[in-house]
Amino acid sequence: MTITKRNALKLGIASFLVNLAGNTAAKETVGTKVIVVGAGIAGLAAAQQLQSQGATVIVLEAGDYIGGRIRTDMSLGAPFEFGAGWIHGPDEKNPIKRLADRVGANTFVTNDDSLEVFDTQGQPLKGEDYDRMDRMYDRLQRKLYLRGRRRDKRSIYEAITEIEPELLNDPLGRWMLSAYIEFDIGAGIEDISAANAFSDTSFDGDDVIFTDGYDAILAPLSDGIDVRLNSTVFQISYGKDGVEVNGIEADYVVCAVPLGVLKAGTIAFDPALPSAVQDAVNEIGFGTVTKIALKFDKPFWNVETQYFGVMTEPKGRWNYWLNYRKFSNENVLLGLSFGQYAPVADKMSQDDMTKDAMEVLQSVWGEAVTAPNAVLTTHWSQHPNFKGAYSYPQAGGSIAQYERFEKPIGNRLFMAGEHTVFNYHSTTHGALMSGRRAAKAIASLW
Ligand SMILES: Cc1cc2nc3c(=O)[nH]c(=O)nc-3n(C[C@H](O)[C@H](O)[C@H](O)COP(=O)(O)OP(=O)(O)OC[C@H]3O[C@@H](n4cnc5c(N)ncnc54)[C@H](O)[C@@H]3O)c2cc1C
Repeated sequence: MTITKRNALKLGIASFLVNLAGNTAAKETVGTKVIVVGAGIAGLAAAQQLQSQGATVIVLEAGDYIGGRIRTDMSLGAPFEFGAGWIHGPDEKNPIKRLADRVGANTFVTNDDSLEVFDTQGQPLKGEDYDRMDRMYDRLQRKLYLRGRRRDKRSIYEAITEIEPELLNDPLGRWMLSAYIEFDIGAGIEDISAANAFSDTSFDGDDVIFTDGYDAILAPLSDGIDVRLNSTVFQISYGKDGVEVNGIEADYVVCAVPLGVLKAGTIAFDPALPSAVQDAVNEIGFGTVTKIALKFDKPFWNVETQYFGVMTEPKGRWNYWLNYRKFSNENVLLGLSFGQYAPVADKMSQDDMTKDAMEVLQSVWGEAVTAPNAVLTTHWSQHPNFKGAYSYPQAGGSIAQYERFEKPIGNRLFMAGEHTVFNYHSTTHGALMSGRRAAKAIASLW
């Protein structure tokens, strides 16, 4: 298997992006007061940078913890990451890698090529099947992306229907589209823009996980910051004299809540967001990905294999599994659901989700599958503070829509979050860079 998930199709738009990663600001911010809404990595990065330059900063967070979509649970004896699991492209330029180094975090390279895929009958694929999948992927890449037109409004599904329809009826093709594209982009191929899906960029290096938990990187960003938990913001007022949020007045506000929350209209903006920004809120997609961790007394799988694929139907149903035994002593399998199946899975109770995922494991390992002794699940689209997992370029939308979040609004309101950086959207490093961008913009105004 030579497919590597995130990097195969990137077109390499590296230009201004590294500047966003720097944490030097144009001017000091002594004497200014800033409210940051949302204590995810974007909000914390903005707060930390502003405070280090002398600003008074208050972070208002709706939840009862910091980190938002970076959230680790160690109850299984190894990290269950509700949200971000990997540093994508952990090279020296990646600011998450730099944070990881700063806190001395232990990381482990998860080898995408260490993969066993099982067909619809639960039988392992043969060598020639992997070769066929490689060829299908290459062909798709050539036809769809390299000849893709920027103005193409079609979804990936619609484009494939025209150029490679047999892929959609081939179980191997369906698995590949889901486990690679739908996982990476966080939505169904029926909804993702064919033209823009792979126009973002990435850092180099094989993806790594944190063996002691992703949330270790939050400490340097949150130490000494006035974060007020359980403080949901419902209104942001901004004008020429300043801003007011939850009755607190300040000079500037950074709004770093997830795109799903903006779409839901949880926060009323006074005055309303400019129509171009509101259009971006409406037209950029926000999908979901569902995770289940099942812990067993004994492994019934090959503990030497990093990933297992299962060609399930409906497409996206628990079709990709991460084996924890490669980096811990825990007999844990982490299952993932993608695409249009993920919102279905998100709505299941923990018991129903467990039954559903166990059926998939039994389709491969039969009676060897024992009852799990611990289970953890995610339901991102059901959570009022998130309403989904991460943003994606939706069919019909444009890259320019993301760029509308980059400019200050009325020189008082600054948007941050993974959905505001097209080139690194849906990643922790993109979110962090957006927070630093907001801090830098405030410093240059003050
Ligand atoms: C399942 C899943 C898997 C992922 N995998 C990866 C991965 O492997 N690698 C990677 O790089 N990225 C991954 N991501 C994406 C990454 O986690 C996010 O891009 C990043 O963490 C987003 O940070 P943020 O600061 O923009 O938003 P968030 O972390 O969502 O922070 C926003 C904060 O705003 C708060 N909030 C919401 N509404 C309000 C309100 N009204 N008032 C006050 N506060 C509010 C929320 O509670 C939250 O704490 C994954 C995400 C998910 C969900």
